[in-house]
Amino acid sequence: MQDFFMSNEDRVFRSEIRDFLQRELAPHAEAIERDEDWEAVKRVVRALGQAGYMRLMFPDLYQGSLPKPGLTHATMLSEEAAYLNYAFETTIATALSCAFPLHAYAQPEVRERFLTPILDGTAIGSICMTEPNVGSDSAGMETRVRFDSTTREWVIDGFKRYISNATKSDVYIVWGITDPDVAPQKGMTAIAVPAGTPGISFPRTYDFMGRRGCAVGEVTFDNVRVPEDHLLGEENKGFRIMLGAFNFERVILGGSGLGVARSAFDIAKAHAQERDSFGQKLGQKQLIWDMIAQMSWRIDAAELLTYRAAKMYDAGHDGKELMREAAQAKLVSTETAVFCSDRTVQVLGGDGVTRQFGRAEQIYRDARALPIVGGSSEMAKYLIAAREMPAIKPNL
Ligand SMILES: Cc1cc2nc3c(=O)[nH]c(=O)nc-3n(C[C@H](O)[C@H](O)[C@H](O)COP(=O)(O)OP(=O)(O)OC[C@H]3O[C@@H](n4cnc5c(N)ncnc54)[C@H](O)[C@@H]3O)c2cc1C
Repeated sequence: MQDFFMSNEDRVFRSEIRDFLQRELAPHAEAIERDEDWEAVKRVVRALGQAGYMRLMFPDLYQGSLPKPGLTHATMLSEEAAYLNYAFETTIATALSCAFPLHAYAQPEVRERFLTPILDGTAIGSICMTEPNVGSDSAGMETRVRFDSTTREWVIDGFKRYISNATKSDVYIVWGITDPDVAPQKGMTAIAVPAGTPGISFPRTYDFMGRRGCAVGEVTFDNVRVPEDHLLGEENKGFRIMLGAFNFERVILGGSGLGVARSAFDIAKAHAQERDSFGQKLGQKQLIWDMIAQMSWRIDAAELLTYRAAKMYDAGHDGKELMREAAQAKLVSTETAVFCSDRTVQVLGGDGVTRQFGRAEQIYRDARALPIVGGSSEMAKYLIAAREMPAIKPNL
């Protein structure tokens, strides 16, 4: 598509980040998928950090050549990385989700200790919200956080699941209930917990159908104690910190979905134009045209919605002002990734479901997580409808 929303600087940046990832990530993409090669993931994260790309979201800390870095560029990074390997992209997107509250809410020494290494690409982070009884609905959160006034430490007890980067992280942002007598939204607190703190354990790493190469697992916090200054923001104000990151995460996920969708589409187009069928190119058949046309307009719609939301964020819109647009970007891009990966397999026929003939089957497996993570498609639809009908409270 003609990238409608982009300035010349944005276009130059896209080409720069694309070249960078071609050089640094593409040679490792197969090993990340096939061997779950974490050393390769770490090498590429380090290269991104050293080049300054992990700082795009934090203009006050950025030292590169862009005059106005922001979410637009971080989303381009996600899109281009997901195009090559979605598992890798989830590692950096999660590290950024961890960096975001550290940047905004950590006390200076804690911020320096945990944020700087993530931005330099020498450390990885996790965000720990989901629990067995807490997924789409945070109201059932069972993790408890209490302040021990004798030792002046925060004490965390709980069990988190589906945590990206689980066993690999250097720091965890953990949400738990500090005041069980009020609604969870009013009694939730966020704490930064360094890896290696006694009481952290990893009961299980998940074996996913796709996204192979990113470590996602369970994390248990059993009487985990961290110093007083590891509190993020204020006690009982953790829900606001959680909400504050949602718009940015949804826009980044718009970029992830777009990258996955585009990688599938390119495979489908190449195959349709090369493969002979019934004495003609496969791409000449009307039913194949239908699939190509549908992938094309869905990808353009996803791109427009994603970069509209990113540009709005960079222009200072956030919170409720951006909720509908960020949710639309996430919903349309991630559903488009599923659609395109499925249609691409269909265009390829047997080659599409065979591991020996390219990446179509991998992209199909990878794409399926996208409408679930970071707030499901159903939750995104509630957010969109809620903004369209502000007088009515959605019946969740
Ligand atoms: C690969 C992967 C990585 C993840 N990484 C992280 C991470 O790093 N940190 C973290 O905290 N979490 C993480 N998650 C968890 C993810 O955010 C949750 O899986 C997601 O929010 C959905 O929650 P759930 O799985 O408990 O499903 P549920 O909430 O049980 O929902 C199940 C289904 O029901 C639908 N549903 C639920 N409520 C309603 C309703 N009211 N109306 C209509 N439909 C509804 C949902 O949309 C979904 O389709 C990850 C998950 C995956 C799969």
